[in-house]
Amino acid sequence: MERVVLVKGRDFSVRRRHPWIFSGAICDETPGIEAGETVEVVSHGGETLGYGSFSPSSQIRVRMLSFVGEPSPDGSFVESRVAAAVGRRAGFFANAATNAMRLVNAEADRLPGVVADYYAGWIVCQFTSAGAERVKHEVASALMKFAPGCRGVSERNDVDVRAREGLPVGEGEAAFAVLAGDEPPELIEIAEGEIPFLVDVRHGHKTGFYLDQRDARAAVGPLANGAEALNCFAYTGGFGLYARACGAVSVTQVDASADALALARRNEALRHLCGTEMRYVEADVFRYLRACRDEGRQFDLVVLDPPKFAASKAQLMKAARGYKDINLLAMKLLRPDGVLATFSCSGAVSTAFFDRILAEAAEDAGCDFQLLARTRPGADHPTVLSFPEGDYLKGAILRKIS
Ligand code: SAH
Repeated sequence: MERVVLVKGRDFSVRRRHPWIFSGAICDETPGIEAGETVEVVSHGGETLGYGSFSPSSQIRVRMLSFVGEPSPDGSFVESRVAAAVGRRAGFFANAATNAMRLVNAEADRLPGVVADYYAGWIVCQFTSAGAERVKHEVASALMKFAPGCRGVSERNDVDVRAREGLPVGEGEAAFAVLAGDEPPELIEIAEGEIPFLVDVRHGHKTGFYLDQRDARAAVGPLANGAEALNCFAYTGGFGLYARACGAVSVTQVDASADALALARRNEALRHLCGTEMRYVEADVFRYLRACRDEGRQFDLVVLDPPKFAASKAQLMKAARGYKDINLLAMKLLRPDGVLATFSCSGAVSTAFFDRILAEAAEDAGCDFQLLARTRPGADHPTVLSFPEGDYLKGAILRKIS
C-alpha cells in the first residue's frame, strides 16, 4: 500500500486520534499517490499509526480513517460507516418530531469530508475532501440502502473548500446532481415539530437548510411569547417562525437575500396562525440595526445568526469587530428583561473568545446580561472529543437585566 512517513516528533496528534495530518508533518511519501487514495501512515520510527485518505493539493494532506490497532479500511468500510451513522440516528427516525436531520457528519461519523442531510426522504450530500469525492457513489448507494424511506441521493458541489482540495466547484445548475434514486422535487416540505418549512435543495444555502440550528430554534421559541421579536439573518424564517408559533406579538425577519425572504413568506403561509404580525425586511443587518437605534426602536427578543465572519484564524480580529458591532447594537435595542439569542458559526472563534466579545459588548452597552443557556447543534451533528475543530457553531441566550 502507498504510505506517508511523518516527520520525527510529529506523530503525537495522530496518536491522540486527531483526524488531520498537515502537509508539514510529512517527510516522505510514495511517489504518485492518487487524489483520495487510502494510504498507510507511518511514524518516523516505522510504526503504523493508521490509515487515511490522501489529498495531494490540500494543506490537510491526510484525513485519518483508522488509528493504531484498528484494521486498514477494506472495500466495505464506506458502507459499514454509513450504516453505523444512520443507525446512530435511529432515535430521530423513531421520534416523529422531525423528518429532517443530518445523517452523516463527516469526521464525527468517521467519514471525513462527507456530509449527508435528510429531508423527508430526500438526501443531499456534500463531499469536501478528495477522499470523500472518490467514494461518493459508494456513499450514495449505502444511503439508499440504509436510510429509512430514502427516495434519492443528490450532491451539492458548490462548496468553496472543494477548491482547496483540487475538486471542481459547480455553479448554477452544475452545482447539483442526482447520484442515486430519483430527482427530488423543486421544494421539499419538512417539519420541525409543528413548524413546516420548504427546503430548496438546489439553490438554498449549504444543502438547503440550517439543520444545525434546530435545537437553538426550539430553545429560543418559547422566549418569544408575547414579544416583539427581531430575527436578524433570518434566511428562510427559522427562528422567526418558531417565535410566531410560540406567541410573539410581532416578528421582523431581516435578511439581505430576497430569495431567502421569499421562501420565508411561503413558509409562513404553510401554516394558518393569526395573532403575530409578520414583517419582512430585505436589508443589511449592520445598517438595519443602526437604523433601529437611530429611530429609538425597542424589542423584547433579538436573534443574531450571522454567516461565518472568520473563515480562518487570520480573519479573527476582523470577525471579532463584526460580532461585537452587531451584538452591541442588539443589546442596546433590547427592553429591560429582553432576550438576545446570539450565535457564531466561525470555527476559528472559540466559545471562550465569543464569550469575551459578548462581555465586552455588554460592558459598552452599560448593562448586565444573564446567561440563560448555551446552544450547540443537535445530536445529529455530533463532534468527537479528539477533534475540537468540528465544533464550529456556538450560541448564547442572554437576558438583559439592567
Ligand atoms: N437563522 C437561519 C440561518 C441564517 S444563515 C435559520 O435558522 O435558518 C445566515 C443568513 O444571513 C443568510 O440567509 C444570508 O442571506 C444572511 N446574510 C448574510 N450577510 C448578511 C447581511 N450583512 N445582512 C443581512 N443578511 C445577511
